[in-house]
Amino acid sequence: MNPYEHGEVFVTDDGAETDLDLGHYERFIDENLTHNSSVTMGKVYSSVIEKERKGEYLGKTVQVIPHITNEIKERIYGFENTDTDIVITEVGGTVGDIEGLSIIEAIRQVGLEKNPEDVLYIHVTLLPYIFGSNEIKSKPTQHSVKELQSLGIKPDILVCRTENDIPDSVREKLSLFCNVRKTSVIQNKTADCLYAVPLMLEEEGLAREVCNHLKLDNYIPDNSKWIEMVENIRNIDKEKEIKIAIVGKYIKLEDSYISVIESLYHAGFANKVKVKVDLVDTEKINKENSKEILSKYDGIVVPGGFGNRGIEGKIETIKYARENKIPFLGICLGMQMAVVEFARNVLGLKDANSAEFDGKTKNPVIHIMEEQKGIDKKGGTMRLGAYPCILKEESLAKKIYGKKEISERHRHRYEFNNEYREIMEQEGLKISGTSPDGMLVEMVEISHKKHPYFIASQFHPELKSRPNRPAPLFVGLIKACLK
Ligand code: GLN
Repeated sequence: MNPYEHGEVFVTDDGAETDLDLGHYERFIDENLTHNSSVTMGKVYSSVIEKERKGEYLGKTVQVIPHITNEIKERIYGFENTDTDIVITEVGGTVGDIEGLSIIEAIRQVGLEKNPEDVLYIHVTLLPYIFGSNEIKSKPTQHSVKELQSLGIKPDILVCRTENDIPDSVREKLSLFCNVRKTSVIQNKTADCLYAVPLMLEEEGLAREVCNHLKLDNYIPDNSKWIEMVENIRNIDKEKEIKIAIVGKYIKLEDSYISVIESLYHAGFANKVKVKVDLVDTEKINKENSKEILSKYDGIVVPGGFGNRGIEGKIETIKYARENKIPFLGICLGMQMAVVEFARNVLGLKDANSAEFDGKTKNPVIHIMEEQKGIDKKGGTMRLGAYPCILKEESLAKKIYGKKEISERHRHRYEFNNEYREIMEQEGLKISGTSPDGMLVEMVEISHKKHPYFIASQFHPELKSRPNRPAPLFVGLIKACLK
């Protein structure tokens, strides 16, 4: 998935590389999901082809219907007889997309095979607002419902994305023309705060409609903690703000860094301060202009990434943050570049680099581990998912996390080269987190005595940040910025 086209790749504890929507699910429901929660057509086709090769369909013609659709249904039915009560299956894309046809057909069959009161279809549509005539248009919704019905699915509930309140007359029209009860036309208005959306949907009666349809006891949920959280977010003083630069290369699409951005907001909630995030193009940063571009920020994040483009700008950015004592958090590639910067500018190893960018350097301070060498193809060779990490006593990392052992999620190929450990530590780059066997460097930092906040991790702390349980490394960053 190209971050430019698809946004960030979200990684689960068990190492599945998923669509960024899964990150939103985790942030909203505060549950760790698994590879079972993300189904791609690649997985579906791959499994069908494997079964065919094993002879599981002997004598049959293998086709989209029923083989692909059965495979999709199996992913949904796979949760039966587990401790799962309800499976929410989101079909991405827009009704009518060629990519989605087999999935729509599969979920149609689910409705046919299960009891009517056990299956519910919710259709999310857009209600455009026409400024000139001051009206909300229901036509696109009518068309998309018609399209869905031609595929054999009748939506039970409409969730309507809108910028303005839907007038009663439009609700009536939607109900009549889309063949959905009026109480099941649910308004989903753009909220002042993302995390207020579930409360808004609750007020609109979405859960009531769902429970009625599924014949579940309709009880009043206790949302008090979430309400309190949203109130706290709303009460944050908007006058004062902390400005953070995310210096990366995928800056044209905010979704490429969605979890990092959300984590910064979560850390703002925890510190009761508004955080303003700017995406800064690393390709535009060089020795001459780094001060001019970066001096307006209170803190800097260098996030993860792949490939050569913009690398030198990242190194200049980190140099600027280190020398000017600007609070800094490096993530994955951001940590690797912090190590390269330190090697070049403190240890004086001018040609230091990551082997990812310069295979011939004499000082590959970041490299591929011996056991991974010889893998010349790149697909599927990454360290993925949650790994434990042990934090050193007396380190900033341990102080921030407040415990010795942590678990964080990874997605990378290259690692810190252990040959440089000693000399880096001698010169002041502390190895503050490692794998339990001590072999893999997971965190580096500069002592608090020399820098207010300079810390970097090989893992992605943003993948586990939740609005009500912010990731400690981001909380520490914003706190340092406030100081
Ligand atoms: N490209 C680097 C690696 O493969 C870093 C990856 C990342 O930042 N997620 O190790």
